[in-house]
Amino acid sequence: MYSYKKLETIIQQCSRCPLSQSRNQPVMGRGNMKPGIMLVAEAPGAQEDLQGVPFVGPAGRVLDILLASAGLTRQDVYITNIIKCRPPGNRDPKPEEQNACLPFLRAETTLLKPPVIVCLGRIAAQKLIDPNFKITKQHGTWVQRKGYWMTAVYHPSAILRDPSRLEETKKDFQSIIQKLKEIEESKFPL
Ligand code: SF4
Repeated sequence: MYSYKKLETIIQQCSRCPLSQSRNQPVMGRGNMKPGIMLVAEAPGAQEDLQGVPFVGPAGRVLDILLASAGLTRQDVYITNIIKCRPPGNRDPKPEEQNACLPFLRAETTLLKPPVIVCLGRIAAQKLIDPNFKITKQHGTWVQRKGYWMTAVYHPSAILRDPSRLEETKKDFQSIIQKLKEIEESKFPL
């Protein structure tokens, strides 16, 4: 396994899928390099593509509200996407684009080893947890895979479209904090 720096260089130069032709720049994950929580969304949007930073703009502000409701800041978590380059017009990423980019997310996960992985939205949940994942019914539920605890919450953009989802998503973030606490306590039971 190579270093995070090397991974970043590989992603910056990547042309494994056609999105390399239309992007301004790949958007690498950001945040804590020893995170308790890794947040994974589907893909960068227009602002992210311009600035090279995940979750800027209105959806980023919703994410900040959710993090703050759980006593967290962006420095406490690591935020990334399944695919690192923006799909034109913000369309959903195609399965072949997701598959081309997934090794980079696997590498991030292996390097950072977050005990908790939170999918932001349906597409990330269907890719990482279950292809039939129903975000409206299953958000906030937990599964354990390969040593990682995984859950999914509404994507911040979905909360912008339907603000009534904000409060239940804040509750899901409380459950994320609780899960992290349980994991820490199980490591140090006394
Ligand atoms: S989306 Fe991923 S696989 Fe496709 S060009 Fe960008 S970094 Fe490479």
